[in-house]
Amino acid sequence: MDYNEYQEKAAEYMRLAVPLMNKNGVAMTPANYAVWYEYVSGGNAALIDAVDVLVDGNERLTDKQSRALYERFFDREKDQAALLEMRQDLQRVLSELLNFVSTGSAASKKTTQNLLSIINKLHPDISREEVHRMIESVLAETRLSMSNSSLLTERLNTTTAEIQDLKKDLEDAKREAKTDTLTNLANRKAFDELLEKATHDADASGLELCMIFCDLDFFKNINDKHGHLVGDQVLKVVATTLKASVKGRDLVARYGGEEFAIVLLNTSLDNVKKLADNIRIDIASKRIQRKDTRESLGVITMSFGVARYFPAEGRESFLQRADRALYMSKRKGRNAVSEAPPPVI
Ligand code: GH3
Ligand code: MG
Ligand code: MG
Repeated sequence: MDYNEYQEKAAEYMRLAVPLMNKNGVAMTPANYAVWYEYVSGGNAALIDAVDVLVDGNERLTDKQSRALYERFFDREKDQAALLEMRQDLQRVLSELLNFVSTGSAASKKTTQNLLSIINKLHPDISREEVHRMIESVLAETRLSMSNSSLLTERLNTTTAEIQDLKKDLEDAKREAKTDTLTNLANRKAFDELLEKATHDADASGLELCMIFCDLDFFKNINDKHGHLVGDQVLKVVATTLKASVKGRDLVARYGGEEFAIVLLNTSLDNVKKLADNIRIDIASKRIQRKDTRESLGVITMSFGVARYFPAEGRESFLQRADRALYMSKRKGRNAVSEAPPPVI
């Protein structure tokens, strides 16, 4: 039978089968159609007998009876349907697996290729045996990929930990680069950077910006009399006192040697002068003792210069005026606070 003849026959069987199905109340499903097509084609005696027995009483066929007929005479098709389902399941699992192993793992490239080649073998006429063989190789591949991926996870965890350590080291290094090691205050570099930014901000906003510049009086004498280590101890006490005297938003820095600077935002010059004087009194009232001998270091004093930033004067001018005010205090006899004159325009 050539293709045209086959088509003609098929059309004829359809013309015969459909009215019969209607007559017997059979739903037009592909499975039922397969039964009635086979019936009218006359090629399957057992099927014809079985249908005839059922429709003998001239009663309508139930869905259950129709399904039973199909299942009895179309086992091969049932097999095919199950196989198709299996093939689809396998394809889905493979694709998921492929997706899983191909995300970010160079080591699983081989696994990806192997899985791809398995997927490519999933042709429509695949046999049950072939599907089983495939499942076996997928399982083998999966086991391999799982061990690869746990290795990968382990490696990723190590790398993440290493990156975190590096990040922390970098942050520490950054912080250290801006911190004075003796006093833990901001160092000159941090101070210069902050002052640069603060003066620019004040130029733009016109908000109050003030500075206290201070220097220990006759500090050289302390070093000379008690040694550098005791001098260092005094510097630490002064740093702690300065830090404790200001709010968190104000910056206290060790400008160099025994000179310190404080940058204050949104504080009036009057208040800054009062603050500087309080610090002066506080330091002068301390009776620092040598740690080793408990010997008192006597009265230690500091001199102060305070300045208010004039918008657009710039960082250099601001610093020079604060420094000049400090030296006014030194000239006055030390242990004093002086206010900087306004900038010369
Ligand atoms: P003045 O009242 O004029 O400021 O006198 P002074 O002695 O404080 O000033 P001078 O500039 O003559 O001396 C500062 C001394 O500070 C000299 C230096 O050895 C000491 N010094 C600077 N940095 C440190 C430090 O980190 N530790 C110690 N112990 N001393 C330091
Ligand atoms: Mg000094
Ligand atoms: Mg000095």
